[in-house]
Amino acid sequence: MSKVRVLVIEDEKNIRNFMQTILTSNGYAVLTARSGEEALMMLSSHCPDLVLLDLGLPDTDGQIFIQTVRKWTQVPIIVVSARTHERDKVQALDFGADDYVTKPFNPVELLARVKSQLRRYTQLGGANVTPEVLMIGGIAL
Ligand code: CA
Repeated sequence: MSKVRVLVIEDEKNIRNFMQTILTSNGYAVLTARSGEEALMMLSSHCPDLVLLDLGLPDTDGQIFIQTVRKWTQVPIIVVSARTHERDKVQALDFGADDYVTKPFNPVELLARVKSQLRRYTQLGGANVTPEVLMIGGIAL
């Protein structure tokens, strides 16, 4: 069974490494990008199952990134940002983000939100998530 792939878009190395560590140790395959441009490349070439997005990127604003990405994919996007203002949250959600977590984040909460978005996406028929095998009466479905 292939792992669920999460794309972490974050320019701060420490945070990026931290996210990578907690995701990897929880069974996710992690892709990383340090800029909007790199992230777009990763998105189109690797089709991740979920995106964690920092808003303050060196080459673009995460809000613009969300708008760009939403023109062609419905991949779940969870914003992870130090911006705590309601206006930023509302705007990100308006542009098509699925969830918003503020920094510093609680790893357990972040993982729970990732799981919840993936569950929703799978139910909506998201393309890449491998469904878990169902065993009914000894038959694997
Ligand atoms: Ca940043």
